[in-house]
This record gives sequence, C-alpha cells and structure tokens, in this order.
Amino acid sequence: MTAVPSVAPGLPVPPGSGWPEDPATPATPVAAEAAQVRALAAEAAAAGSLAELTARQSVCRACPRLVEWREQVAAVKRASSRTQQYWGRPVPGWGDDDARVLILGLAPAAHGGNRTGRIFTGDRSGDVLFASLYRCGLAALPTSTAAGDGQRLIGARMVAAVRCAPPANKPSVTERDTCAPWLAAEFALVVRSVRVIVCLGGFAWQAAWPMLRSAGFAVPRPRPKFGHGGEVTLAAPAGMGGQVLLLGCYHPSQQNTFTGRVTPAMLDEVFGRASRVAA
Ligand code: SF4
Repeated sequence: MTAVPSVAPGLPVPPGSGWPEDPATPATPVAAEAAQVRALAAEAAAAGSLAELTARQSVCRACPRLVEWREQVAAVKRASSRTQQYWGRPVPGWGDDDARVLILGLAPAAHGGNRTGRIFTGDRSGDVLFASLYRCGLAALPTSTAAGDGQRLIGARMVAAVRCAPPANKPSVTERDTCAPWLAAEFALVVRSVRVIVCLGGFAWQAAWPMLRSAGFAVPRPRPKFGHGGEVTLAAPAGMGGQVLLLGCYHPSQQNTFTGRVTPAMLDEVFGRASRVAA
C-alpha cells in the first residue's frame, strides 16, 4: 500500500501533493460555479481525456454548501479516524477507462470517499459492494480500504451522480444539476464500451436519464420506475452499435444492509447479471 502523505491537519489534500491515485496537479483548473463546471467538463470531453476530466472533477468548488461541508468533515473527522488525513475534495470517477459495466452511485460518504479520496472506499457500503464485485469478477480484491491499496476494477467503472459528500447524504436539486455535466462528460468518454449501467438506488436511477439523453440515447417516456432488479434495454445511438442495459439495484447503504432490504445475495444477482451481459 502507498503511504498517504502528511499535510496540515484539517486541510483538504492539495492537488498533486502525493496522495495515492490523485488525478490532479496544482495546475488543474478549478470550477468555482456551475457555468465553469459545464465549460471545463465539455472541454475535457472534447479533448477525449478521462485523466484530465477526473483531475478537474477532483478540485471542483462549484457548490458552496458541499465545499463547506466536505472540508468541515475533513477538519473535524470522526473519533475513530482522528489521526488520519482526510481527502476532503470531490471524489472523481474511478476504474477501467474501457469499462463495459458502469456503476452509478449517489455521492461519497462523509467518512468514506471523503476520507479516502476513492469512491465507495473505506465505508460499510463499500465493504458490501466490493465483496460482491469481487465475487462477480468485477473487482480484483474483496475489499477497498484506501486509495493505493491495490484494488482495481475489472471491466468496470464507478461514478457518483454528485461528487462531494452531502450533509445527511442528501444533495439538493441544484447541487445535482450543477454536478451533472461532470457525469455527462465522463459517460460520453466511456459510452462506446459500456454495455451495462447499474444504478445504486433511486437517486442514481434518476440521474441516469439526463446522462443517457446527453449521450444521444432515446429516453423512454414515461421514464421507467426504479426497482431492485428492474431492467431497461436501450438502443445505442447510431454509430455506437448494440444496446445498453440499465439495471436497478438497491443502494448498499448501512441502513439497507442492516435491515436486510439488500443482502449480499441480492447484490450478487445484479452484478452477476451485469457481468454476464457485459461479457
Ligand atoms: S458536487 Fe460536483 S459540482 Fe458540486 S462542488 Fe462537488 S464536484 Fe463540483
């Protein structure tokens, strides 16, 4: 495992300061408002650069409430992580650049992705999720504890609808819409290889439709309702070939796993299906 560099306590990690898997450098442009998110995302997509796109995502400051929250959490920390440096920045998309399975979540957890800098890494949801991805052949390791731990997605990529940890796990509609261009641009850069999209929860399911529409997909009306195991087959736009399967899956949140609303077997069914279709 790569050592996490030590920086001043409470500060978000400076870009390019040596944090494992940090995609940004001190020169990465920072979006300070919604219009700049749109412009910087479109520019990176037009340049065809996932690396530049994820770098720009990881330094974004366009949502004042979320910037304040993520940095406050990074400064205060929780008791069990008091000695650790928190990432405290947006958590960018991560995984295979030629992914056949795209996993779409809600937003990073305050003490998970916001601490480790990698999506679904270092929290209970990720423990359950990565164990299932490993069993289904989509992850190299059964655990994901920290950036630089050797974990790797196999033919899969993870993205969040909103890249900053929100208070009470609830981004506002404005924050969702402000962050949407990052998602649309990332999808545009991987859409040619993607065959399956797994939406973790209803928020992700809703966020998928504008993402698909922006990539040229015909979105059904009325929009199909979210449900665990729900499936929608979408014809890919002309020139991209084939179909994309949209799969619904209950979010592996602590509440859902503790109450048994979603179980490891239920996750394996969804990711097993995604893996088979993608193959
Ligand atoms: S939620 Fe998205 S748009 Fe808002 S600050 Fe974070 S990365 Fe930027």
